[in-house]
Amino acid sequence: MTSSDTQPDCLFCRIVAGEIPATVVAETDTTVAFRDINPHAPTHVLVVPREHHQDAVELAEQSPGVLADLFTAAGRIAAAEGIAADGYRLLFNTGADAGQTVPHAHLHLLGGRPLGGLVG
Ligand code: 5GP
Repeated sequence: MTSSDTQPDCLFCRIVAGEIPATVVAETDTTVAFRDINPHAPTHVLVVPREHHQDAVELAEQSPGVLADLFTAAGRIAAAEGIAADGYRLLFNTGADAGQTVPHAHLHLLGGRPLGGLVG
């Protein structure tokens, strides 16, 4: 699959475009961050690139600067949420066996409670 700026049938492209409502917590020129609809922690935010890439590896290959922007945005959101000092988890699910359900790269930011082992 090749990337393009947006995919009309992509859920997260539609959230980025404002076509589907979401609780947006931060935006930059290249990223949008919104609360996960099914949170697994007191803070569970998804940080996504505005441009469409199916997963984090494709994003890294095609737009490495935007991948870095996701992490920068996540750090700022963690600070704004008051969870930076205690720590938080950043993860990408990549592909079916990892449980990736939305084929638009998204960085999970989880925190606000002890997260336990690898996947909490
Ligand atoms: P994945 O399993 O692909 O890594 O993560 C997808 C995430 O998107 C899930 O945690 C799921 O709860 C979240 N999600 C799915 N649909 C929506 C939606 O319509 N709005 C929001 N805000 N989150 C969604």
